[in-house]
Amino acid sequence: SPVATAPTAELLRRRGNAYAQLQSHYYAEPPQIERGWREFLIDTDGRPYLDMVNNVTLLGHGHPRVAAAAADQWLRLNTNSRFHYAAVTELSEALLEKVPESLNTVLLVNSGSEAVDLALRLAAAYTDSPHVMCVRESYHGWSLASDAVSLSTSDNPLAASTRPSWVHAVDAPNAYRGTHRGTDSGGRYAADAVARLGELAIEGIRIGTFIAEPRNGNAGGIGIPSEYLPTVYSAIRAAGGVCISDEVQVGYGRLGAHFWGFEEHGVVPDIITVAKAMGNGHPLGAVITRRDIAEALSEQGSFFSSAGGSTLSARIGSTVLRVLDEEGLQENAQQVGGVLTDGLRALAERHPMIGALHGKGLYQGVELVRDRETLEPASVETPLICDRMRELGVIVQPTGDRQNVLKVKPPMCFTVESARYFVRCLDEVLTHGW
Ligand code: PMP
Repeated sequence: SPVATAPTAELLRRRGNAYAQLQSHYYAEPPQIERGWREFLIDTDGRPYLDMVNNVTLLGHGHPRVAAAAADQWLRLNTNSRFHYAAVTELSEALLEKVPESLNTVLLVNSGSEAVDLALRLAAAYTDSPHVMCVRESYHGWSLASDAVSLSTSDNPLAASTRPSWVHAVDAPNAYRGTHRGTDSGGRYAADAVARLGELAIEGIRIGTFIAEPRNGNAGGIGIPSEYLPTVYSAIRAAGGVCISDEVQVGYGRLGAHFWGFEEHGVVPDIITVAKAMGNGHPLGAVITRRDIAEALSEQGSFFSSAGGSTLSARIGSTVLRVLDEEGLQENAQQVGGVLTDGLRALAERHPMIGALHGKGLYQGVELVRDRETLEPASVETPLICDRMRELGVIVQPTGDRQNVLKVKPPMCFTVESARYFVRCLDEVLTHGW
C-alpha cells in the first residue's frame, strides 16, 4: 500500500521542511487524509469527513470507472498527442458536442493556468493586441500570464498594484456589496466597463481580450448581474476584441441548470477555458475556440504540450464526460443543489450572520457578515466557523477577498442526506458558537 506510515504530526513537520511553505495547507492541525469515497474524505483514524470543497473531483472520490480506465490505458499506451491515437479525437469531439456550434476546435493542456495562458496567447495573436481587460476579485491561475489577469487580493495581496501595463482592471460586478447594488446593477457595471474601453481608446490602447468567469468563483460563486456580459461582450467585439469565458471553476454541469456558466447570460464566448473537473483530479485542461482563432497562433509558432492530450489524459477525460452524463450528475447538481439552497435559505431566516447566499446547483457561497446593514464581513469568524465545522465532520473553507464566504462546491455525486447534514452542522455552529 502506498499509504504513508509515519505519524501524522511527524509527517506534517517533515512536510514543513520538504515542501514549500508558499502554499499553506488547510487547518493548523489538519487530519491526515489518505482515502476518499464519493463526497467523503477519510482520515488515517478512519474518520469520514463530508468534503464540501472538491469541485475538482467532479464524479466523486475513488470513482471505479475512472480508476479502471486509467489502469487499462497505462498498461496499453501513454504517449503524446503528436502520435495518432483514438483518445485525443474522442475527447475533442465529446467536448465539441457540449459547446455552441461556432466553437469548433480544441487544444488540450494539463491545468486551468495553462488553459488560461494559452487562451490569452491565442487571443493576442488573433486580435493583434496584447491588452487584456479583466475583473477585480477574480482568479485565473498561477502562471505568468494567468496570474497577471488575476486580481483577487486573497491570492495576491499586491494584485491591485503590481499588474503589467497590458492588464486593465474593471470592477467586480458584485450586486451584493460592489460599487453598484441590486439585481438590476448589471447595466451600470457594463456602462462603467464600456466607458473604460473608451478612455483606453483615447490613450491609444485597444483591448484585444476580455476575460471573466461567468460567475465569480473565487469570490464564492457570486452571480454576475444580467446585462453585464452581453453588453461588455458586444463592446469588446465592436472594437475587434475577443471574449474568454473562464469555466475552470463553475463550468462542466456544476450549476445544474446549465453545463457552462456563460449559458446563464445568453452569450457565446470566442474562447472557453476549462480544467479541474475534466480529469476528476487527473491533470487535464482544454481551450475550446474557433478554428480561425487557433490558427492565428500558427503564424507566431506552434503549440505542443508533452502531456496535454496524452493518451492517458484524453482517455480519462472521455471517461469523465461519459460518467457525468450516464450518472445524470448535472441533473443531480440541480436537484440536490435546490435542497441545499432551500436549507440554507431557512438558516438565513434565523441567523442574521448569513448576509447573502450566492451561486446555484453545486456551486454555492454562504456570505457571512457582522451586520446586514453595513455588510461588515465576518472575516475573523468565518475561518473559526470552518474549524468548528471540521470538528463536526465537515470540510469547508473560506473564500473571497474578505475571506468571509463559505465555499460550497462538493463532488457532484452529492446526496440530499449530505446536503441536509451540511445545513444541520452549519445551524449547530451558528446557534451554539465556534
Ligand atoms: N481559472 C479559474 C477560474 C480558477 O478558479 C483556477 C484555479 N482555482 C484556475 C483558472 C487555474 O487552474 P489550475 O489550478 O488548474 O491551474
